[in-house]
Amino acid sequence: MSQYRPVREEVARRADALWAVACALHADPETAFAEHRAAALLTGELERAGFEVRRETAGLSTAFTARAGRGRPVVAFPLEYDALPGLGHACGHNLIAAAGLGAALVTDAVLDGCEGTVLAVGTPAEEGGGGKALEVEAGVFDDVDAALMFHPGVYDWMRAPLTAQEQYRIGFRGRAAHPTGNPTEGIDALAALIELFNVLSALGRRLPEGSHVQGIVTQGGTATNIVPEYAEGRFGLRALTTAALDDLAAQLHTCAEGVARATGTSFEVERASVRYEHFRDSEVLSERFAGHLTRAGINLTPPAAGVYLGSSDIGNVSARVPAIHPFVAIMDADGSDHTPEFAAAAASERARRVLVAVVEALACTAVDVARDAGLLARAWDRHR
Ligand SMILES: [Zn+2]
Ligand SMILES: [Zn+2]
Repeated sequence: MSQYRPVREEVARRADALWAVACALHADPETAFAEHRAAALLTGELERAGFEVRRETAGLSTAFTARAGRGRPVVAFPLEYDALPGLGHACGHNLIAAAGLGAALVTDAVLDGCEGTVLAVGTPAEEGGGGKALEVEAGVFDDVDAALMFHPGVYDWMRAPLTAQEQYRIGFRGRAAHPTGNPTEGIDALAALIELFNVLSALGRRLPEGSHVQGIVTQGGTATNIVPEYAEGRFGLRALTTAALDDLAAQLHTCAEGVARATGTSFEVERASVRYEHFRDSEVLSERFAGHLTRAGINLTPPAAGVYLGSSDIGNVSARVPAIHPFVAIMDADGSDHTPEFAAAAASERARRVLVAVVEALACTAVDVARDAGLLARAWDRHR
């Protein structure tokens, strides 16, 4: 383990400063796409360490990249730093940012001029908006060889069971009329929308495990003495894989089309969110990370069967490059993220211990990727 001693020394030297960053972010939560002070704090730290910082990545005002080193491989650390409205850092993204920052600084210091590039990527709006998805589309991860991050949680899990997700807006257009004066002239757009909900509930009974649609009505008419001319709903789609999500979206479209034909309305379907792809874990790299984390007494296990923890835009990154997104517990499994209790845990003594352990394990994994070409080759073999 002596080859990792320089990593441990660099982590120890920076532990207090990294915890201060985690606490500063925690005390000043900013929500999706408004994380201006967080981005300024993190880019400032990276610039001081000699990283070349570029702001407004992918046209997003709170995104950034910070690069140090030279040549291949390029190891990326995605930094999340958005908070939840009204709940502060109840998803612990302050710890993700501090861990990614620490891992980037430590890896760069340990590589010290050897071949290999460290890329810290500021990825805003994980909770809604999908900064990583937009950055992937803009090519930010095109020259990346591996992407390493962790997420605080209530479980110690090697990989994240994260599903694919997107939203659609569906509108039906009919014809307005007086419901008693000339009812036969009217074409009720709301009736079409309600019919779509009925058809979807029948569809729901034969969808594969993990696929489901949740709809809400966003427009349903203006007055009870007018046959609704226009009605609109929003539909959240979720599936275990991106391919299953494609199937589900196609079925939603078919259902809307059938309802429109049956009701004499016209319809339009439009994607209303960034698509989050399902997460593909790089087992080669997540096993390596888990191995390093055991030195801190944290033992990661595979996730419990059949449990899914929502979706994340790291899925889009993982579709392009080998990526890891383990969960490391900062509170016990009877708790949950997105709660005030989790927000408190994200600034607790346990969170501090997790942060230090994770920075070391992330940096050790990155150093392995840079120094062991065979490891990266295996990760890419599995990825393909
Ligand atoms: Zn969250
Ligand atoms: Zn989160």
